[in-house]
Amino acid sequence: MALPTKLLIDGQLLDGSGLLSVVDPSTGEPFVEVPRASQAQMEAAIAAAKAAQPAWGAAPLSTRRERLARFADAVAQHTDELARTLVMEQGKPLEQAHAEISYAEFFLRHFATAELPVEIVQDDEVLRVEVHHRPLGVVAGITPWNFPVLIAAYKLGPSLLLGNTFILKPAPTTPVTSLMLGALARDIFPPGVVNVVTDANDLGALLTTHPDVAKISFTGSTPTGRKVMASAASTLKRITLELGGNDAAIVLDDVDVAAVAPKIFAGAFLNAGQVCIAIKRLYVHDRVYDALCGALAAQADTSVLGNGLDASTSMGPLQNAAQYAKAQCLLDVAASDGTIVTGGIEARNSGYFVRPTIVRDITDGSELVDEEQFAPILPVVRFNDIDDVVSRANASPYGLGGSVWSGDIDRAYELAQRIDSGTVWINHHLHFGPHIPFAGAKQSGYGVEFSEAGLSEFGQTHVISIAK
Ligand code: NAD
Repeated sequence: MALPTKLLIDGQLLDGSGLLSVVDPSTGEPFVEVPRASQAQMEAAIAAAKAAQPAWGAAPLSTRRERLARFADAVAQHTDELARTLVMEQGKPLEQAHAEISYAEFFLRHFATAELPVEIVQDDEVLRVEVHHRPLGVVAGITPWNFPVLIAAYKLGPSLLLGNTFILKPAPTTPVTSLMLGALARDIFPPGVVNVVTDANDLGALLTTHPDVAKISFTGSTPTGRKVMASAASTLKRITLELGGNDAAIVLDDVDVAAVAPKIFAGAFLNAGQVCIAIKRLYVHDRVYDALCGALAAQADTSVLGNGLDASTSMGPLQNAAQYAKAQCLLDVAASDGTIVTGGIEARNSGYFVRPTIVRDITDGSELVDEEQFAPILPVVRFNDIDDVVSRANASPYGLGGSVWSGDIDRAYELAQRIDSGTVWINHHLHFGPHIPFAGAKQSGYGVEFSEAGLSEFGQTHVISIAK
């Protein structure tokens, strides 16, 4: 690795007080050690970010944009190195790792040119009322292990554009690419504007309770999100929570099975199913149930599992040992509550590999249907009645995404309006972009990311009201 993998605090690349051993999930063996920060180092990062914020916030918008564009350039120049490291720490195939880095660059470029204009909400003979957006102060971005580069980028971009300074705290099992982003950021932003601090799941609470952190932008599981919300209450921090999901995809009786099967497969099994907005429950109309189960199983059987750096690999391992253990338990659930058409543990000597698994003859009430699996094990549930399937899809406490699949867009559109989730896709799944609001309903989140609405959550609404 040519890029340094040190902590970034106040413009300096530093060792930690200890080391984090990072495991390659394709072998289950450590491949690198990186610094692990102490509480004092996290305090130092917060102090540096606080000290740097007034000047950064006062800099012309054009300067902040230019620096963000340079950061996007730096990410682009190091795509290959970032992508290969991402494969090693996260497990995804190299092509998907390249796509993640490219998408991170794309989001950064979007935020480097985004607008959050002053809005005039009244201008008459009595008053002129303007709505501005001022920086909040220090923003902490807390990220999970499934898309560590993309999620870091889409938290850093809006934070810095709005004039905040930023602390990135990655998940302990995928810290390496985040530290590399820190090394790139050091040469572009003034000291303290970007800080990258790693932990062993022990420093998040310091960020969420610290009086000098103004906002937490958190992506992770719903249980941790609840802890973040509770601890942020003591200082009334601004929070955005992007949490877990259990997206239902509803397949109507009029689909072309051969045409939709590959798309549904991709929507469920990208990144070995470790995607917040993956298809996690598939409801299929009785008329096409057997055919779709068969087509998905056939597709699953073509998957080549292996180290993501091998060109032939189409699916990598699960990211960590805990997730692998959870998947093993869920395979037992699948066998007892349904029928495994194909899949299961991949026979290998090492690594956290689970084959794409299609489970049929299973229904609501099973843990595999009701809970977020975050693994390549897809329950396929039969339905006959539209009202019934809508109420089953909506019975989940989650509400991140969902999709409806039909040969008739009008029918699908009518159904889409009844799904209780932040996003509903018709005849596709998993799509999102920096211009599209992304907001989890129910236990899947709090607040909005992306779009103007998401951008405004990184600023303080500031009204100037002028009497005439
Ligand atoms: P996690 O909740 O275990 O960890 C997320 C982050 O929170 C890590 O950086 C972790 O170190 C940190 N953390 C742990 N305890 C903390 C505390 N008390 N205070 C503050 N931070 C703390 O999640 P994970 O297992 O890394 O990621 C998987 C989960 O993330 C899944 O549920 C998935 O659906 C969700 N996810 C959601 C989205 C989304 O946009 N909605 C995107 C990706 C992943």
